[in-house]
Amino acid sequence: MGFCNSCGKPMSRGDELGTNKDGSKNEYYCSECYQNGEFTEPNLTVQDMIVKKAKEMLDKNPDLREEDATGLLMYFLPNLKRWNPNFDEEVNHHQSKERGYRNKGTNFDE
Ligand SMILES: [Zn+2]
Repeated sequence: MGFCNSCGKPMSRGDELGTNKDGSKNEYYCSECYQNGEFTEPNLTVQDMIVKKAKEMLDKNPDLREEDATGLLMYFLPNLKRWNPNFDEEVNHHQSKERGYRNKGTNFDE
């Protein structure tokens, strides 16, 4: 999978994955963003996430310019599944064989 589709954090398989309601792993989101079938911060907007992640990037890379970090995130984050309403369509369109679990855990608007 590669990275969290909410915050963009790189993920490896295992503990860093979020969890669905039934306790299974959710391969789209990391454990910080998604637990027990719900986002940990359901009211967060993509702008909030950009600000938050830009700050983290700047903390880790003091030489980075804030506008560069923000620019990168503004390009990257809005295309992630959590923020992009057309994500599934675009994925279907571009490439898709990848996986059968694609629709698991996506109905979080209950
Ligand atoms: Zn995440």
